[in-house]
Amino acid sequence: MPDSTNLQADVIVVGSGPGGATTARQLARAGKKVLLLERGIDYRPKKYYGTYLGALIYADRMSLLFTQEGLNIVHPLMVGGATSMYCGCAAPPPDWMKDKYGVDIDAEVAETIPELDIAPLPDPLLGSASTRIAQAGIALGYNWEPQLKFMKPARTKKFDCGAKCMLGCRCGAKWNAAEWVDEAVEAGADLRVKAKVSRVLVDGKKVLGVEGTLAGRPFKAHAPIVILSAGGIGTPRILQASGFEQAGQGMTMDTTTMVYGFIKERGTGNEPPMTWSWENLEEGYMLSTLIDPWLLYPLITALKGPQYPLTWTKWNNTLGVMIKLKDSVSGGVFENGKISKPFVGDDRERQKSAEEICRRILKEAGADPSSMFMTPLRGTHPSGTVRIGTMLDENLQTEVKGLYVCDASTFPEALARPTVLTIIGLGKRLAKHLMQ
Ligand SMILES: Cc1cc2nc3c(=O)[nH]c(=O)nc-3n(C[C@H](O)[C@H](O)[C@H](O)COP(=O)(O)OP(=O)(O)OC[C@H]3O[C@@H](n4cnc5c(N)ncnc54)[C@H](O)[C@@H]3O)c2cc1C
Repeated sequence: MPDSTNLQADVIVVGSGPGGATTARQLARAGKKVLLLERGIDYRPKKYYGTYLGALIYADRMSLLFTQEGLNIVHPLMVGGATSMYCGCAAPPPDWMKDKYGVDIDAEVAETIPELDIAPLPDPLLGSASTRIAQAGIALGYNWEPQLKFMKPARTKKFDCGAKCMLGCRCGAKWNAAEWVDEAVEAGADLRVKAKVSRVLVDGKKVLGVEGTLAGRPFKAHAPIVILSAGGIGTPRILQASGFEQAGQGMTMDTTTMVYGFIKERGTGNEPPMTWSWENLEEGYMLSTLIDPWLLYPLITALKGPQYPLTWTKWNNTLGVMIKLKDSVSGGVFENGKISKPFVGDDRERQKSAEEICRRILKEAGADPSSMFMTPLRGTHPSGTVRIGTMLDENLQTEVKGLYVCDASTFPEALARPTVLTIIGLGKRLAKHLMQ
């Protein structure tokens, strides 16, 4: 029986979200002996996958993870990482990645778009209420466009997407990084679940491997290359425990809120999430069509005040516009387990200005202004905690030879747009770099 307490590989990848799944798949396909370590399990075969119960089981602290400022963070811990609960939106990397930080992933992103059939949903599936919001935005002079999606109706017999997509995709239309984990395994990668890495093993300036627990028992794994892809919260924690003091100092979150208004007709809740979007690059935010899933709505709105859950009865008639703000680097992920994400600089003013635009759009779309309110702040993109240019060079290597990071923690600034396509681009580029 193989010794699972002392593993060996050419490359160790920690975490199986889009960063880890991409690098593991590409390197395994190129013939490397890859060990992929994931602290969660594969929930896709479970009956409760994609249900409210599931979201409680696989999200960190039963979805009740909060920053010190009270911002709720959705942090899935499972094979596929956060793509198991994402909205399936895709966006190319912002120009500043290349222009300001020398990170050119254009070729990798261009290759991925046809590979995963990334495209907006066909017109009939964009949703009539969502389209109503977009048309209102366009009438006010904002250039709303159909959102690129990792969602393909042809992948499923019964396309059944709605706000509930954020619990996990049950109909199969949405691409999930877990599929690339499957492909990595098919290509020979050794996937270990319930493998929680606590520390990187380093000899002077060279990486040796990692240690942690495997199904609760201590283990060590050795390789000349270690790629940390444990996400914007997991990766800095591993680095901190390994003596990297800068890790987790400062963070970005693409801080998110929803502005709701009610109409007489059907609202956006039963339509695919985020089918239309508009980016305000000047002020640094993105707006999109989105509302909380039915059962989460009263919980989220209760955080705002006791009267707001009473609007639950109007869920079917709610129009929702999501704001994703390009928040400044602030706060961080700390060794004592706490996370902080305060608004600093002009974050609050820009948030306010985005909220005003949302209210104008909702009014134009027919919502009663007196019914409108904004949900509390939350975070779905923990990122920027091990930044390129601060802790990483443009090839994603740390100061330790052979120790790389490839996930959302590498972002030098908030993306304020969907992250996954950028992370895939980074993963493909890193795999090419390592094969050279
Ligand atoms: C509700 C929601 C909606 C979203 N919608 C979109 C969207 O539409 N489009 C988009 O592009 N992005 C979206 N995102 C964001 C996107 O899913 C994440 O930014 C992205 O998945 C981050 O990828 P990652 O590789 O950095 O890490 P993650 O996806 O977080 O994966 C990290 C993995 O590492 C594992 N791990 C953590 N610590 C350890 C450890 N110590 N040892 C071993 N394994 C560990 C975790 O279990 C996890 O599987 C959404 C996120 C959420 C929560």
